[in-house]
Amino acid sequence: MDTQAFIIPNSRKNNATRASIFLNHAFASGTFKNVYVGRYTAGERAGERCVAKEFKTGSVFQEHYFNEEMSVIRRTQEVIDDWWNAGIIGRRIFLNTPAVWTYEVSGKKALVEPIIENFEKLNSNSGWVNLVGGAWGEVMQALSHFSYHNSAGQILLCDLQGGPCSDGYILSDPAILSQTIRAYGPADLGPDGIYSFFRRHRCGSFCKRWWRTPTSQGVARFPMTRGTTMVPNPPARVRYNPLARIPK
Ligand SMILES: [Zn+2]
Repeated sequence: MDTQAFIIPNSRKNNATRASIFLNHAFASGTFKNVYVGRYTAGERAGERCVAKEFKTGSVFQEHYFNEEMSVIRRTQEVIDDWWNAGIIGRRIFLNTPAVWTYEVSGKKALVEPIIENFEKLNSNSGWVNLVGGAWGEVMQALSHFSYHNSAGQILLCDLQGGPCSDGYILSDPAILSQTIRAYGPADLGPDGIYSFFRRHRCGSFCKRWWRTPTSQGVARFPMTRGTTMVPNPPARVRYNPLARIPK
């Protein structure tokens, strides 16, 4: 007799091959991306709504941004898989996994992923915490802390945002802070960002007492904001595309 093991992935993918995007107005505007809503027209998700995220800056160096974004997604997926395997909570956390799609007419590229209904932000990359985020809010503060512990202090997963679904919670568009500023793109505030997070982090019921925290608290150099704080490009890259800082 055959035995089959079904593995449910902790990711949520497009599962579609084509979509119509409504470009007449931006659904949301982030620090350096515009988000448009659309609908899948072919594939398993045909009929469901999706979003297309476009970088605000010019097209020439977009490849660079797409690659950075996908490296954040890959690393985040590892954290979420480890979190699930550690059995900290019984409910699932899924990561929305975008893919780079190309518009048929303009040839421009965008990151496409399934839409998240009831979207909310639960923490930022500068230590802001949604104090009315409920149980999922507390789970996400623990997920950030777990990512630091689980990576032996190498990274911090943050900018956690998304929405609840029937079988858990879906995250989208996170940020990773690392030991090398900007290694994970412009939202990677480096070690100072990690210190800023822990200066403002209060362990809740899902954090474990033995999880590591930075031994030196350093300086909370970045002002705490709800939006995503971006670091300017290093001098070598300024000629490509200076990124706008978030307005104070
Ligand atoms: Zn904690």
